[in-house]
Amino acid sequence: MTVVGRFAPSPTGPLHAGSLVAALASWLDVRARATQARWLVRIEDADTERCQSGMGELILQQLAACGLLPDEAPVWQTRRTALYDAALSQLQQAGLAYPCGCTRKEIDEALARQGVAHTRHGERVYPGTCRDGLHGKKARAWRFAATKFQGASGPLRWTDRRLGEQQQDVASEVGDFVLKRADGPWAYQLAVVVDDAQQGITDVVRGEDLADNTARQILLQRALGLPTPRYLHTPLVLAADGNKLSKQNGAAAIDTGSPEAAQAELAAAARVLGLSGDDRAAWVAQWRALYPDAR
Ligand code: GLU
Repeated sequence: MTVVGRFAPSPTGPLHAGSLVAALASWLDVRARATQARWLVRIEDADTERCQSGMGELILQQLAACGLLPDEAPVWQTRRTALYDAALSQLQQAGLAYPCGCTRKEIDEALARQGVAHTRHGERVYPGTCRDGLHGKKARAWRFAATKFQGASGPLRWTDRRLGEQQQDVASEVGDFVLKRADGPWAYQLAVVVDDAQQGITDVVRGEDLADNTARQILLQRALGLPTPRYLHTPLVLAADGNKLSKQNGAAAIDTGSPEAAQAELAAAARVLGLSGDDRAAWVAQWRALYPDAR
C-alpha cells in the first residue's frame, strides 16, 4: 500500500522549534516506509483571518533549508475552496449541516440558562440553540449536526500510534461545531478532513495539541463517506511558561541562516522526538524501531 504523509502548517508565523518537530516527524514517518511513500506539504491558509501574508512562502523556504522537500508541489487551501463547498453541500443535503445565528454572548447566555457554565479548553460547548431553526436570526455560521450524526452510538473511540486508545463524546464534549462562518473563512475541521481525503493521506503525524480534534475529524469523515487515516501525535515543545511553544509566548523562528544552523535545529527537533545523533538515516532507523507498526 502506498503511504502518504503530510505536514500542514498554518501560515500564522514562521516555522519555530515546535512546528519543526511536527514537520520532521511526518517526514521521518514517510521515509521510514516502503519506497512508494510520499511526503506532502499543505499550507493551511483556509482560516484567512489568522494567516499572515508571505508566511506560507517563508515556511516553504525554511523547510527547503532543512532539506525537508515535499514529493509534490505544495497545495494552498485558499485555492481549493470549491472542494470545501462541495463537502458542505453534501452535508446540507444529508441534513447534517445547519445555519446558526448565535453570537458568542447568546451562546454563553444559553449555556448559563441550561446551568452548564463550563467551557472546554476555553471553547464553548455549543448548546444547540439553532438546531431547530434560526428563530428569525441571520445566519452567522454553518454547523455540523454532530449530535444528530453521533446519535446513540456513544463516544467515538480511536487509536493513536503514540498515545494509544483515545475516546471523546463529541456531542456532549464539543457539540455541533462550526464548518464555516457565514461570510467568512472555512473552519479547520472541514478543510483538513476534505484535504486529507482528497490528497489520499494515509498517515497523519502532527503535534499532540491537535489530538483533541481527531474525534471531530473522524466523525466528519464518516458523515462524508471518507476514509479515516492513521494518526500519530508527537510530543510538544514547551515554552518557559510551561505552555505549548507558540508565536503568542515568544517562539522564535528557527535559524536556517546556514546549513550548520539548520542541521542544529533539526537535531534539536529530533531530540524532542526521542531520537539521538545528527544523522537522518539514523533517525529514520530509530523512528522505525519506535513505531514498528509503520507499514
Ligand atoms: N494547520 C494546523 C496547525 O498548524 C495543523 C493541522 C493538522 O496537522 O492537522 O496547527
